[in-house]
Amino acid sequence: MSEHDGKENTLQIFDKCRKFTTSLEAKRAGLYPYFRMICSAQDTEVIIGKKRMLMLGSNSYMGLTNDPRVKKAAIEATEKYGSGCAGSRFLNGTLDIHIKLEERLAQFCDKESALVFTTGFQTNLGTISALVGKDDFVFIDKCDHASIIDGCRLGFGKIVKFGHNNPESLEGKLKGCEPGGKLIVVDGVYSMEGDIARLPQIVEAAQRYGAAVMVDDAHSIGVLGKRGNGTADHFGLTDRVDIIMGTFSKSFASIGGFVASSSTVIEYLKHHSRAMIFSASPTPACAAAVLTSIDIIEKEPERREKLWHNAYKMLNTLKDMGFDTGLSETPIIPLIIGDNMDVFRFWRYLHDAGIFVNPIVSPAVPPNQALIRISVMATHTDKQLDRALRIINKGAKELGLLTKHV
Ligand code: PMP
Repeated sequence: MSEHDGKENTLQIFDKCRKFTTSLEAKRAGLYPYFRMICSAQDTEVIIGKKRMLMLGSNSYMGLTNDPRVKKAAIEATEKYGSGCAGSRFLNGTLDIHIKLEERLAQFCDKESALVFTTGFQTNLGTISALVGKDDFVFIDKCDHASIIDGCRLGFGKIVKFGHNNPESLEGKLKGCEPGGKLIVVDGVYSMEGDIARLPQIVEAAQRYGAAVMVDDAHSIGVLGKRGNGTADHFGLTDRVDIIMGTFSKSFASIGGFVASSSTVIEYLKHHSRAMIFSASPTPACAAAVLTSIDIIEKEPERREKLWHNAYKMLNTLKDMGFDTGLSETPIIPLIIGDNMDVFRFWRYLHDAGIFVNPIVSPAVPPNQALIRISVMATHTDKQLDRALRIINKGAKELGLLTKHV
């Protein structure tokens, strides 16, 4: 032990770190499912160690992360502009390719203007905290993504939570609210539950109480909308959604995020959003990959058709097997198992059988609602999915998980 380790052992600030042993215990028990090291591209199959695994835990809904056209665009952008921008959009980090991307995103979302951020998480942090000031209110679904919650926490307004995808609950909260600016923020598709926001009722309630609506389309881009352009378009409500937020890390096969809105809102955010102003801009490779992904998503609607074919195939078969798939109606399919330990055992079974899925346990979900999160891609073949379904069914039966829920 070094002198430094000795000092660290006495510092009160690190008490919590020394007491945190959960992950070490899980590793010792062979039930640690996180930070798995993938040694290949994010595709329908991945390599972990020496093992080829079927990927049912990726957010690459369009299956574009390993597409030769997207990779070529990223390589060419790196050759032209270099590997990084060495600064914030605000100062030295704006390239012509960022402007081109913002124009393309605004057009894709049918909005006047768009602003690009370096991650999806930062997009929510930077947008919500800039808009919700001390005399304002932000209304959030209780299942909204962590980045939305943290964006609210960084703002100085009052945070009001409403019941999950429950416009009546939202309306009750809006009714009781004092005067002030109001922003409602919902996920378009909920990242764990896989249900679609009830946008028609939400925008109605918003209109009645003078609230603006922001939709986080992280899981809806590519998936919903006539051109894969998200939840608002899916419901024909683009004009009534004030801010469309999206990430590049899922269907857009890259990393980063954006908001699309009126020119007035975007101009304000460009000069007030700290997560954008004080952080370096997305790399040229990231921006180019998104531009090419948008083109492909628009030109190849058959990808979205195949994605929905795959989603329904999995959803319907898993339900027939007796799984509780909760509220899912999209390519995100939770298998609600209940007990954390049962989920870890099931995860281990599937991992050993070559199926990559993600375990989601409490406190990330309410107690006794632990689940296996399955997500499908447009590029999965029927053969791959049939194999996964056979293994999932066999595993659940062997572990006695199905009997509890049918
Ligand atoms: N919003 C939602 C709904 C998400 O699921 C995520 C990430 N999973 C984010 C925002 C953050 O996006 P990113 O990973 O691109 O930072």
